[in-house]
Amino acid sequence: MHLQGTMVINERGRLVIGGCEVVQLARDFGTPLYIFDEDCIRENCRRFYQAFNAGSGRAEVIYAGKAFLTTAMCRIIASEGLGLDVVSGGELYTALAAGFPVDRIYFHGNNKSYAELCQALAAGVGRFMVDNFAELELLSRLSVERGQVAKVILRVTPGIEAHTHEYIRTGQIDSKFGFTLPNGQALAAARRADELPGIEFKGLHCHIGSQIFELEPYSEAATVMMELAAAVKEATGLVTAELDLGGGFGIYYSAGDEPRPVSAWAAAILTRVEAEARRLNLPQPRVLVEPGRAIVGPAGSTAYTVGSIKEIPGVRKYVAVDGGMADNIRPALYGAKYEAILANKANLPPAERVAITGKCCESGDMLIWEAELPRIESGDILLISCTGAYGYTMASNYNRLGRPAAVLVRDGVADLIIKREDYSDLIRNDVLPARLVRTC
Ligand code: PLP
Repeated sequence: MHLQGTMVINERGRLVIGGCEVVQLARDFGTPLYIFDEDCIRENCRRFYQAFNAGSGRAEVIYAGKAFLTTAMCRIIASEGLGLDVVSGGELYTALAAGFPVDRIYFHGNNKSYAELCQALAAGVGRFMVDNFAELELLSRLSVERGQVAKVILRVTPGIEAHTHEYIRTGQIDSKFGFTLPNGQALAAARRADELPGIEFKGLHCHIGSQIFELEPYSEAATVMMELAAAVKEATGLVTAELDLGGGFGIYYSAGDEPRPVSAWAAAILTRVEAEARRLNLPQPRVLVEPGRAIVGPAGSTAYTVGSIKEIPGVRKYVAVDGGMADNIRPALYGAKYEAILANKANLPPAERVAITGKCCESGDMLIWEAELPRIESGDILLISCTGAYGYTMASNYNRLGRPAAVLVRDGVADLIIKREDYSDLIRNDVLPARLVRTC
């Protein structure tokens, strides 16, 4: 397994993150346990901030909170000078509870409710990333009613699809998100934004996909979006002061993943936007990006305790851990690949190939199909790396498993940032109808 962030193996052969032995963390906080490496999160924030020269005011790095969001995480992001992308009333509530600077909050979502729009207007969020006509109309009405003006960025589906190893440009966009560009919807949205009261057009947004390793789809998106900005200006006179090219910057999960340095993303994007602004005779927009996994993915890991082991000779050895798809749905959901290490035997060479499975009642509850590990025994502490993004945020209570705790580690100190759910949490929202009270 690639050691990420501050991970080291100490003289006792144990894995250490943020100066804390994982075995000790498992003892102190129990397993499964999400472990977040604060220095690694901050380092990733700084890489983006510096590469995009966000301090100049000509760019902003906006952390995509959907990757991992708690009040502690909001504090870290705020202190590193990043903005925050929220996509629901719940994420917004979390940011506000943490005291996140409200003008740096960008409110996304393809189906924002009336209540969520009111909540965001009342809070005074920095930008509404408007996704569709109904939202635009409703936001206008609500802003006028409240005597406010909502600063709006229009989310566009640009006709570029990016994949890990290829990208294709599609004429016809099949996506639930945003105003479609090729069929003229995006331009029509800008016209409508111009007409409506209570709406101030600030710019355009697109997000072309996730876990992208190539630079070209971003450059391509920059061109397509700048051409749209030119068309918007021509049709309405509106200036695209902000151009948001979304997130999706690929990270290392397992062998074969080769992430680019952040400086390469920044250079590709900034250079192309500048060139297009010159070519199209447009003012240079402020460039926004929205990394999620690239900030928190490699900084998070999950520690499990190994339980039952089932060997089918000539077929496979299943090693079950005390979590699984309930705390990390990504392998079951879309075949995501991860790597593992035995935190208590971190200096031993691989001795066997095993499958790491969870404890949920689904055959698909697999975390890793093939892991090369030292001889594994029940009671070992197994750590899966790079689970920081979309692990906890997609966790469920399937099989009534409580969601794990999360700790933030730094300089040998481990702080609890999410409490483990216990059995009482699991029935907290259950309601027993009166007619069932005396049935047993
Ligand atoms: N921005 C938008 C609009 C998104 O939909 C997403 C992910 O779905 C992101 C940013 C973050 O993507 P990633 O975590 O891959 O950087």
